[in-house]
Amino acid sequence: SGAAAAGYLAGLNPEQREAVETLDGPVLVLAGAGTGKTRVLTTRIAHILSLRKAWPGEILAVTFTNKAAREMKERIGKLVGEAVEGMPWLGTFHATGVKILRRHAELVGLKPGFTILDTDDQVRLLKQLIAAENIDEKRWPARMLAGAIDGWKNRALTPDKVPAGEGGAYANGLGVKLYADYQARLKTLNAVDFGDLLLEVIRLFRENPEVLAQYQAKFRYLLVDEYQDTNVAQYLWLRLLAQRKPGEIQNICCVGDDDQSIYGWRGAEVDNILRFDKDFPGAKVVRLERNYRSTGHILATAAHLIAHNEGRLGKTLFTDGEDGEKPALTSVWDSEEEARSIGEEIEQIQRQGDSLNEVAILVRASFQMREFEDRFITIGLPYRVIGGPRFYERLEVRDALAYLRCVASPSDDLAFERIVNTPKRGLGDATLQLLHDHARARQVPLMQAAKVMVETEDLKPKVRGALRSLIENFDRWTSKLDLLPQNELAELVLEESGYTEMWQKDRTAEAAGRLENLKELVRSMEEFESLSGFLEHIALVTDARGEGETEDAVSIMTLHSAKGLEFETVFLPGWEEGLFPHQRSLDENGRAGLEEERRLAYVGITRARRKARIYFAGNRRIHGLWQSTVPSRFVNELPGDHVAISEGLGTAGYGGMGRGGFGQSRFDKAESFGSTYQTPGWQRAQAQKSLADAQGRFTGRTGSQAFGSTFAEGRGGFQGR
Ligand code: ATP
Ligand code: MG
Repeated sequence: SGAAAAGYLAGLNPEQREAVETLDGPVLVLAGAGTGKTRVLTTRIAHILSLRKAWPGEILAVTFTNKAAREMKERIGKLVGEAVEGMPWLGTFHATGVKILRRHAELVGLKPGFTILDTDDQVRLLKQLIAAENIDEKRWPARMLAGAIDGWKNRALTPDKVPAGEGGAYANGLGVKLYADYQARLKTLNAVDFGDLLLEVIRLFRENPEVLAQYQAKFRYLLVDEYQDTNVAQYLWLRLLAQRKPGEIQNICCVGDDDQSIYGWRGAEVDNILRFDKDFPGAKVVRLERNYRSTGHILATAAHLIAHNEGRLGKTLFTDGEDGEKPALTSVWDSEEEARSIGEEIEQIQRQGDSLNEVAILVRASFQMREFEDRFITIGLPYRVIGGPRFYERLEVRDALAYLRCVASPSDDLAFERIVNTPKRGLGDATLQLLHDHARARQVPLMQAAKVMVETEDLKPKVRGALRSLIENFDRWTSKLDLLPQNELAELVLEESGYTEMWQKDRTAEAAGRLENLKELVRSMEEFESLSGFLEHIALVTDARGEGETEDAVSIMTLHSAKGLEFETVFLPGWEEGLFPHQRSLDENGRAGLEEERRLAYVGITRARRKARIYFAGNRRIHGLWQSTVPSRFVNELPGDHVAISEGLGTAGYGGMGRGGFGQSRFDKAESFGSTYQTPGWQRAQAQKSLADAQGRFTGRTGSQAFGSTFAEGRGGFQGR
């Protein structure tokens, strides 16, 4: 194995090697974007395996997305070849949580076949509970409660642990009671939500020390990517697993970057990374400074921007690569023109024969995607949407999945409710209410209640006939579960239920697309072993597949879901005040919110290997209303000597760029772009104030000096400008 080891270690720099080869004891790799943190994790796994320090099953690696887990699996496969039998436990916290919970479901009051609810199911369930309390759902929306519950779960707070003051935020103090009701209801449904996948594991470990001990002994090596974005629940979970008896060594390796902490709004605590060496005494902290991903200008731009944040550790970053092309800044009239010109640029890339898989459009808010989707459909440019409003969340896909969930587990009430009258078969709300009453009285699932009810006189003959035929259908489909491949079964179910026909008869513009999506759904099932395997995957995917992963296509996704990824060319549209930085973050979290937005911008720019393209539109439709916009303050924070004003822009407005970034004066001139920036006075005043703030921090620091301690000028490609 020595020769093999040399192979995969040879390409690493000394610091990376140290992080890979320090196998005993806690290790923290704290380093900027593109410095090879993920690569270190992957190589470390290969190293552990090739030195036979552990069997694959004794390694647990936690990634941030399922996509990252898949990629890591592939890379490890390549590094260690066929020599290793089995695979490490590799997945997100949630996926790992499911795996553990399925094995010990009974210990936390669940049955092994429990269902995983998504947000939509969660909200439907909460609506019922809210109605039962006679609370006005219009005034106290279920989504608001769902948000509160998620927040508590992220902080590992069970209903009895929610601080007294916090329960009052929803419906005058009923929030916590509803949270408790909700948990009770989940148990009777044999269901969990996403947050429970972490909370229930923590409970399992705490209440069953022998189970915990078993996993502590099993996982001899723990590895965590994107550690800066772990929340309290994930942190506790990990701490429990990493606990050792005194004198035992903790083999835990976490990698992260405080500048890329972008999930604060979802409960992530960047403090977790900052106190690593307190949690794991004797931890070795490794810093990586060489960026292997991006060209000099891109790196300089990102470093300059993030230097505007105050709450950061500060890191050195350099590249030995070439300066490359300057990131381009382009102003457009509105979002339609933005989509049009980005479409044209991508077609240009296509004509050059470069792969579209290497092109990404990273948006701040998912509503921005539609404009691109529309445009790309029009010009026939293949694209895929990753994250956000996903393929699997589309109406028709969700309906189809509900049918399949009912076939796989007839006690799945939420799924049953969703499709009982879709397509319409005369089983409306009144019937559903009867079924509900019956089910509740007998403590049975709806499907079961329906079976009983069709034998009684409680239903009108027509209704009874419709319900009977639906039940018979389900019985027949379920009986074919083990006989037909799941994709054939799915096709059959969609045909025989009348669901496909419903869309075939539909005259709306979307119907054709919906039918295609259904086809795509069925096709995507082929690669799974069973229907339940497929459904489990669906419950877990945080990134959409289904659009043909192998096809050459542009990726459209939110900045949040781009974390950890890289592309040759990255388009960053919508750099406007209110959209990016997002007004909500500013309103809700003030300065901290602004800094998190800036980290998001840093993540965005650092996804690019060779080309970064920033856009801002003078007009944008937000919530259906056209609004004039002001360029993002982040535009003004870009370093003038590393950024190019793109053609098409009304360049006169910008004048020559100095070395100190786009300053106030340039911004003033930008306002004179004809009628583009008819900003309401207050908004302009606000933007100018923030600009002045930003400007203040430039004082006395221009050009390269502004990198300060965070960007080592003169190392690598930054000399001579
Ligand atoms: P992020 O913070 O964005 O998650 P990261 O620190 O995890 O970035 P990686 O994705 O691991 O960085 O690496 C960035 C790129 O640099 C990848 O293409 C990787 O293959 C490459 N790379 C990393 N280390 C080396 C090396 N020693 N030699 C050559 N290429 C490297
Ligand atoms: Mg990474």
